[in-house]
Amino acid sequence: MFGAPVKFAVLAAWWSAWALTCSCQTEEEKQPKYWNDLAWKDIQETLKVQPKTGVAKNVILFVGDGMGVSTVTAGRILKGQLAGRTGEEELLEMDKLPYSALVKTYNVDRQTGDSAGTATAYLTGVKANYGTVGVDATVKRNDCAASFTGKVKSVLKHAHEAGKSTGIVVTARITHASPSASYAASANRAWEHSGKLPTDAQALGCSDIALQLVRDNPFINTAATHSEKSLFQPDHMQYSLDREDDPAGEPTIAEMTTKAIQILSKNPKGFFLFVEGSKIDLGHHASKAAHALHDLVAFNDAVGAAKTMLDLDETLFTVTADHSHTFTFGGYAPRGTPILGIVPESEDNIVLDGKPFTNILYGNGPGYRLEGRENLTGVNTADKEYIQQSAVPMKFESHGGEDVSVLSDGPMAHLFRGLHEQSYVAHVMKYAACIGEYAYGQTSGGTMFGAPVKFAVLAAWWSAWALTCFCQTDEERQPEYWNDLAWKDIRDALNLQPKTGVAKNVVLFLGDGMGVSTVTAGRILKGQLAGRTGEEELLEMDKLPYSALVKTYNIDRQTGDSAATATAFLGGVKANYYTVGVDGTVARGDCTASLTGKVKSVLRYAHEAGKSTGIVVTSRITHATPAAAYAFAANRAWEHSGKVPNETQALGCSDIALQLVRDNPYINVLLGGGRAYLTTTNQTDPEYPDQKGFRTDGRDLIQEWRDGKQGSAAQYVWRKAEFDQVDPAQTDYLMGLFEPGHMQYSLNIGNDPAGEPTIAEMTTKALQILKKNPKGFFLLVEGSRIDLGHHDSKAALALHDVIAFDDAIGAAKTMVDLDETLFTVTADHSHMFSFGGYAPRGTPILGIVPESEDNDVLDNMPFTNILYGNGPGYGLEGRHNLTGVNTTDKDYIQQSAVPMRYESHSGEDVSVFSDGPMAHLFRGLHEQSYVAHVMKYAACLGEYAETCQTSRVPPCTTSAADRRTWSGFALVSTFLVLVVRCKLG
Ligand SMILES: [Zn+2]
Ligand SMILES: [Zn+2]
Repeated sequence: MFGAPVKFAVLAAWWSAWALTCSCQTEEEKQPKYWNDLAWKDIQETLKVQPKTGVAKNVILFVGDGMGVSTVTAGRILKGQLAGRTGEEELLEMDKLPYSALVKTYNVDRQTGDSAGTATAYLTGVKANYGTVGVDATVKRNDCAASFTGKVKSVLKHAHEAGKSTGIVVTARITHASPSASYAASANRAWEHSGKLPTDAQALGCSDIALQLVRDNPFINTAATHSEKSLFQPDHMQYSLDREDDPAGEPTIAEMTTKAIQILSKNPKGFFLFVEGSKIDLGHHASKAAHALHDLVAFNDAVGAAKTMLDLDETLFTVTADHSHTFTFGGYAPRGTPILGIVPESEDNIVLDGKPFTNILYGNGPGYRLEGRENLTGVNTADKEYIQQSAVPMKFESHGGEDVSVLSDGPMAHLFRGLHEQSYVAHVMKYAACIGEYAYGQTSGGTMFGAPVKFAVLAAWWSAWALTCFCQTDEERQPEYWNDLAWKDIRDALNLQPKTGVAKNVVLFLGDGMGVSTVTAGRILKGQLAGRTGEEELLEMDKLPYSALVKTYNIDRQTGDSAATATAFLGGVKANYYTVGVDGTVARGDCTASLTGKVKSVLRYAHEAGKSTGIVVTSRITHATPAAAYAFAANRAWEHSGKVPNETQALGCSDIALQLVRDNPYINVLLGGGRAYLTTTNQTDPEYPDQKGFRTDGRDLIQEWRDGKQGSAAQYVWRKAEFDQVDPAQTDYLMGLFEPGHMQYSLNIGNDPAGEPTIAEMTTKALQILKKNPKGFFLLVEGSRIDLGHHDSKAALALHDVIAFDDAIGAAKTMVDLDETLFTVTADHSHMFSFGGYAPRGTPILGIVPESEDNDVLDNMPFTNILYGNGPGYGLEGRHNLTGVNTTDKDYIQQSAVPMRYESHSGEDVSVFSDGPMAHLFRGLHEQSYVAHVMKYAACLGEYAETCQTSRVPPCTTSAADRRTWSGFALVSTFLVLVVRCKLG
């Protein structure tokens, strides 16, 4: 660490050398030093990032249409591979932006939105109905009359009124949904030209979108001096891969963006520019992933070109998407496998029809063959016209409903953090540039000065509604709802002060397999279980103020497993697939190498610093994730002695359970399953008399654990009643093993004969015990079985376990002081899980999508919201007719595109949510190993311990009363800052 600046130079040097000359990336990555240096460089850079609080003269918004988190990750890999590298380590231009958030993309009337309703949200700040553009949600699709009074003004119009130049660059028709939300108001996005406008709507006085563009917005194209609007195609422009098909030629999106900025930046008052990579979406709809991903790379080039032309001290520079797609990629492909290619055969995938399968798969789309799954032997799946397979045959693949990311730099970019409604994006742009209702003293009808009153009203009816009615979408039809919500959100973000003290405690919540799509679906289920529509819900994890995305690949795999990813987020070093607690020099199964390649976890460092430590899981306590906290194994499967080959034991490698008890007697709390892994083949299980332990070495590790705790306040329990009786005040060591194997899914908790505690109950008890240590503690809590529910494609089990996991987060949050506790929630990897299909608002997330003209299902059979890219739900005899099937049943298996015994992990980035000291280091995109380094840095552990003594102060000990005074002051100061910024700026 102390040689760090030198190390970076070295790092940078060999990085460039490597990038130019070889593809030996993974060689460097095998050294722990690579990851440690990278993380420390990342931390230093993040610490240096200072929020820019000035006024944004310019605002530029890049929207990748349909560019969900999985699309961004896949596009990043493609970009790296096109440059001759493995790809997973690549960074897109958008990935380099320092601030990030997630936004909820639902429309007021749809669970999964369209580009028109979503564009209205991010361009005007008001959520709208599906298919409508530039109007609020009082306007139903096709209701021309309502659209006259329901118009909402876009950031582009506000910018124009403030004297700024304005521009629009898209690769779609200039009258398409996204661009039209910036200049038109239409009850139907399809009314693009006069021939599309019904005569009755015309008679009522509604105009088509193209006419509105030219007649009502002459300012956008003032003789090509202040703005850019050129039309290169009668319809959409070409995909970037098809550009030579344009007879007269057409510019790239980067060239158009460059020209637009050259024209717009002549205005001394600044400009607003909207740039859309429009055809990413259309590539996905056709399930031609090559088109979608190459268009993402072209879009990213435009982002890069713009970045070099602009001063980010006076330009708010934001990249986001309108919605996602049912696009997934995964299957444990080796590192560097062509992202558009076939996953090489391996024992890790059991494909039930024996045919090859692609990395990329869609939930629904044209790639399902009614006559049976195509054999891809000899097929070039990287071809631009290749159609990836899907689980449900649909003429056009549908959008996905999960959150999308926002990445940003420039003035007020730091307001992008955590989770927001999509309408928040427009408000941040207006607030940053002091336009619209945020231009103090300048505009009419601003809601801002009445804001405090409105918040009270808002809070009041919100609670009233939550208690008594189901009228959520009625309130949402009023634009004030979204405006007030966004202003409250902005105020919260402005009042947020980074906590720079030392974290006494560290808690890490890990949702195994909990990708972004799983979080969104779990959130909807939670709301629906409470009787609400669901999409508007917030999970406890959603409420944490800081967020980031992390890259989950393993050194040797594009899509990682829980063992190597756990080594990353607990040890700070990326590793090889299937290895746990060891660095990348250790190949899977290489015992000898593992003896020297050990990686020390945050848990161990915390123990060495005198803190208490604990592990709470719902899997076996010896499973991959918890094992990375205390064990070192070249193979995660070596969980008990019977699993470790004799020759391996002879070399000196021990099983994971033995390492737990023999080498880690200090761990104060161990709660989970896995009794059989700690007991012998002669021992009868206390709960299941017909079952024995697994250990072949005759060691009763539970007894050994107890013997080692002679004279300490230690307790071992295996059933709910005993657990409940444990008095934390009288207990310093607690081991609870509630099942011979994994604990039950939360929906199956009644299946445990002797009962078992919930994950929230275990977390609460653990914290009660750990909190007694005045030096603090480290606690790892894993919602382990979210992952297993997905592997079986039983989404009900996975999503109900997300909720149980979130309950534990909620319980813990009330028990710790977030001024002295770094409190982080993340996942190890994602799954091939998607949901979509334009279901109406409030459609049961585990249910069937109601029939509608928006989905053209080619076999005319019902389909579920949730689908998997691969998994056991593929019907070899044809797609199962779901008429009369209860798809919300806990054992229902959702359909998949490829028949696999176990659904696989997927490879896209996962999110990190955090609060507490140094939580603000979570922003933007990082390698997953960064998570462990932030925990160590925050708590001054490991290599960060020494500098901590001098450079950091212990957390302040202000009383609760002081803090209240401060928030009152902060509220007032927010208004003052706003007034000063926008008047003088
Ligand atoms: Zn679309
Ligand atoms: Zn898994």
